[in-house]
Parts: sequence; C-alpha cells; structure tokens
Amino acid sequence: MESVAILGAGVAGLVAALAFAKKGVRSVVLERTAALQEVGAGMQLSPNATYVLGQLGVADQLEGLWREPDNICLVSGQTLAPITSIATKSVARSRWGSPYASIHRATLQKVLLEHVKAEPLISLHLDAECKTEDDVTELVGGRPDLTIGADGVWSKFRNFVPQSGEPEFTGMVAWRFIIPEKDAPSFLNPRNITAYVGSQAHIVAYPLKDAGAFNVVALSTGNNPGETWAADCNPTFRQEMTAQFSTWHRDIRTLLAYAPRPTWWPLFGVSNGRWTDGKSRILIGDAAHAMTPFAAQGAAMAIEDAYELAGVTTGNAALSDALLFFERNRQHRVSRVRSRGAFNKFAYHARGPVRIARDLVLRMRRPEQVAADLDWLYGYKAPG
Ligand SMILES: Cc1cc2nc3c(=O)[nH]c(=O)nc-3n(C[C@H](O)[C@H](O)[C@H](O)COP(=O)(O)OP(=O)(O)OC[C@H]3O[C@@H](n4cnc5c(N)ncnc54)[C@H](O)[C@@H]3O)c2cc1C
Repeated sequence: MESVAILGAGVAGLVAALAFAKKGVRSVVLERTAALQEVGAGMQLSPNATYVLGQLGVADQLEGLWREPDNICLVSGQTLAPITSIATKSVARSRWGSPYASIHRATLQKVLLEHVKAEPLISLHLDAECKTEDDVTELVGGRPDLTIGADGVWSKFRNFVPQSGEPEFTGMVAWRFIIPEKDAPSFLNPRNITAYVGSQAHIVAYPLKDAGAFNVVALSTGNNPGETWAADCNPTFRQEMTAQFSTWHRDIRTLLAYAPRPTWWPLFGVSNGRWTDGKSRILIGDAAHAMTPFAAQGAAMAIEDAYELAGVTTGNAALSDALLFFERNRQHRVSRVRSRGAFNKFAYHARGPVRIARDLVLRMRRPEQVAADLDWLYGYKAPG
C-alpha cells in the first residue's frame, strides 16, 4: 500500500498517522479545524493504551506530563465511605506491563501533534474539512489506496461506508469542570482516581499534573443539546444538574455548587454497524464505535484501532482481506469493552437492595481478584 488518507486529527487520526509512518507508509492527515483546539477534559489512559504509545515512541515524553495515580477507588457519594479500590501505580507496570495514567486530552493531542509534525512521512493539512470523497481526492492529489475515517462521533465519512452505525444520544450527560489543586476541597485525593457513586449518577475526580488541577466529571441523565463536545453550562442546566445530586454528601454538593466554568457534554454512542466497505474505506475510533465513558476506554480503543490497522494493512494479506480481518477482530474486542461499560454503569448507579448487595460483594473481593478481572482489558497488547 502506498497512500493513506486520514480524516481527522483527534487521538485516533494522529496515532494512525504515526503507526503507518512506523511501517514506512506515507499518509496525509486532513483536519477540519484551522488550529487544534484545547477541547475535551482529562482522560484516563489505561495500560493497553499507554503500551501502544510506548511502541510509537511517544510515552517517554508523556511520562513527564501525565500522573500515575496510586489507586482507582470507588466511594459512596452519599457518605464518602470507601467501597473498594484497585491499586494502579504499583500494579499497572508489573501486572499489565505499562503504566495507568491521567492526562489532559489537549496535552496528549499536543504531544502527538509534535511527533506527527516531526515525521517526514506524514503531511498534515489543517482547515481541510472533507464532506465528500472528492474533497479527499482533491486535497490528497489523487485517490488514496486507503481512506481512514477518524472524524469522530459525528463522522461524515460514515456516509461512505454502507451499513455503518448511527450516532445515538444515550440519555446521559457529562458535566465537567477543572478545579486548581490549591482550591480543591480536602476530600479530593490527589493520589487517586476516585469514582463517587450513587443512585442514577456518578462523579469521577482525578488529578492532572499537566494542569496542576483536578478534573471533575459528573455523569447523570439529561437532555441533548445537539452536536457538541462542550456546551456552555446555562443556569437552567446547572440547576437541573445540582438537583440530581441533592441527596449526596454535603461536601460533594458544595463542590458542585462552586464548580468554576463548567461545561457539559451530551453522551452519544455509535450503534453497531459496518466499519469497512471491504475495499478501501475504514472507520476507526469514535467514528466507528463512540461509547459511554463508563469504562474510560473510548480513547484507548481509538489508540488500539489505529495501531492494529497499520499492522494488518501493511502485512502480506490483500487490502480487502486485511480490512475485513481488522473489522472482525476489533468489533469483538470493542463489544466486550462496551459490555464492561454497561456493567460499570449498572454497578455505579445502583440503588436500593442492589446497591447494598454491590457494596457487600465488592468489599469481600480481594484486590488480587479485582485486578485479575481486568487482565483481558488492561493487559492487552495490540499487535502492530
Ligand atoms: C465525559 C467523557 C469522558 C471520557 N473519558 C475518557 C477516558 O478517561 N479515557 C478514554 O480512553 N476515553 C475517554 N473518553 C472518550 C474519548 O474522549 C474519545 O473516545 C476519543 O477522544 C475519540 O477520539 P477520536 O480521535 O476517535 O475522535 P475525536 O477526538 O472526536 O477527533 C475527531 C477529529 O476529526 C475532525 N473532523 C471531524 N469531521 C471532520 C471532517 N469532515 N473532515 C476533517 N476532519 C474532521 C475533528 O475536528 C476532530 O479533530 C471520554 C469521553 C467523554 C465524553
């Protein structure tokens, strides 16, 4: 294969370009925005994702910028009592072979971009929105052998892949803000990723070394504001959101009332469907399978997709066979991750007797058992 066009310079698109370059294949990345904006928030990068970043030679630079939390903790949102925890810092490298980290999405994208700009096999075009395949042909200067739709949850390229999925509002919204560490209440632990769980809602808080701040995301049911990554949080929404947490611990209610400059995101998924036409088009990342963030794996799956795609399409198999093989294998893994996310949602948002049973079961489990349950997810080494 000689020419690859990649639509979108998000995490999926940038990692794909680096992965193809590692295989000696030239690519053109087409990004619709004129400058890559600092959108998004903090993200957790689990060992299956940091492994790929290590293989691409990006992890060394990121290590100075991300934080490796000691534990992931589950805590009651009503009482702040601990329910269970998984050691991450001590376990991730030894058990899963790579670190577990938290970082701002903008920092990850900036570092990936620096590597992309330094790579002679990659051409990056900003302000290059592609609505049709003719746009791609014109910008690339010919029809590429392979076109990769890495253009996110509202992908336009999906229209060119017959029987692909559809974006669907999940009925949930994420309310996000960043609070400087110096202003943070003492119950927020800078050494851990903490999920505060409660009936029909949960809050995740973790430190961002690169921002000197905590990333706080509250997830609950809500209305759909349309296609956006970060809508402004108007007073009505703020009121609706705080009402959902009115029975939570006083310290959490105080934190939400204080929330500086919150933004909110509607949570969209992409339904099951085809990712490839079996010839020369493929979808990866959120364009293929946007999912709710309950397993914190959306970007991780995008990173794995990008790396594996470069591996399978640059081997000996015909391109069409390679694309179908990729679709089959990756759909299997992504579907397992989606199920894990659905399970987490059930467990985090439980109420009444289910909540009591959950707490009992989780408190009885040994840390070793909890870690072993995650081997298939965090210990996965994407083949490149
Ligand atoms: C609240 C929340 C918390 C999350 N937390 C985590 C987490 O902790 N860990 C994790 O792994 N994941 C997390 N995720 C998911 C993660 O952020 C996404 O899965 C990931 O960013 C998707 O990357 P992508 O490159 O596929 O898409 P995007 O990041 O959306 O990038 C798509 C790019 O394509 C460009 N584009 C769009 N249309 C066109 C076009 N027509 N032509 C050219 N360019 C175009 C866009 O401008 C953009 O730059 C979270 C998501 C949410 C909502």
